[in-house]
Amino acid sequence: MDLLELIIEYHKDNERQGPGSKEATLKALSYLPYLNEKSRILDIGCGTGGQTITLAENTDAHITAIDKLPQFLEKLIQKVKENNLANRIVVKEMLMDRLSFAEKSFDVIWSEGTIYNIGFEKGLSLWKKYLIDNGYIAVSEISWLTDIRPEEIEQYWVNAYSEIDTIENKLSVIEKCGYTNVAHFVLDDKCWIDNYYQPLFENEKAFLKKYDYADEVKEFIEESKIEADLYNRFKDYYSYVFYIAKKKL
Ligand code: SAH
Repeated sequence: MDLLELIIEYHKDNERQGPGSKEATLKALSYLPYLNEKSRILDIGCGTGGQTITLAENTDAHITAIDKLPQFLEKLIQKVKENNLANRIVVKEMLMDRLSFAEKSFDVIWSEGTIYNIGFEKGLSLWKKYLIDNGYIAVSEISWLTDIRPEEIEQYWVNAYSEIDTIENKLSVIEKCGYTNVAHFVLDDKCWIDNYYQPLFENEKAFLKKYDYADEVKEFIEESKIEADLYNRFKDYYSYVFYIAKKKL
C-alpha cells in the first residue's frame, strides 16, 4: 500500500488538512487592507480549500489556489461550484517551488499549514518575486512558544521539521527575506483539536474498514495518535503561528 494514497484518503474528506480555523483566517485577513475586486490572492498549498472559501466569502478578490494533489483540488473545485465562486476562484495543480506566474502577479500570498514542505526561509524567499511591491504575505508555520522545551518534544519536532524555531527567530527570518513584520498570533487549541485531530479520529473506523484493518493502516493511524498525544501533553511549548508581513520595496 502506498503511503501517499493513505495520506490522501485519510485527509481528503476533511475541511482542513492542517491546524487552522475560519476565525484564524479572518483574524489574519483583518491586518490587511480591504481586498477589492482588483486584488489578486495566491493561496499556496490550498488542500481541499477551507481557507480559500473563507477568503472568497470575506473579500472581493480574485483567488488562484494551487496544490500538488489533484485529489484535494477536486474537493475544492466541488466547493467552488456549490458556492457559485467560479468567477472568483481559479484552481491549479502546481508545485509550490515551481510556481509558473509572472513576477509581481499578486497583491497577497496566503499559505496555511504548508510552507514547511519546502521550508519557511526557502518559501518566503522564493515567493517574494510574485508579490507586488508592498504586497502582503500571510503564512502559518509551526513555532516554539518558549525558549526552552522538554527534551521529548524538542527531539520529536527537530526530527520532523528541523526549521522549527521560536517566534522571535521566525520574525527575524521574515525580515531577512525582505519583508516587514505586520502582525503575528498563535493558533488556539480549537485549530488543532476540533478542526484537525478530531475529524481524523472520528473517521478512523471507516478508514480502517476500507483497508480491511491492515496492519500498516493501523500503524499509520498510530502515528497521528502519537502526534496528537504529544500536542495534548506539550501544547504550552509549540503551536502554529500565523505571520503577516509586507514585502519591502
Ligand atoms: N492549506 C490547507 C492544507 C494544508 S496541508 C489547510 O490549511 O487546510 C498541506 C498541503 O500542502 C497539502 O494539501 C499538500 O498536498 C500540499 N503540498 C505539499 N507539498 C506541496 C508542494 N511541494 N507543492 C504544492 N503543494 C504541496
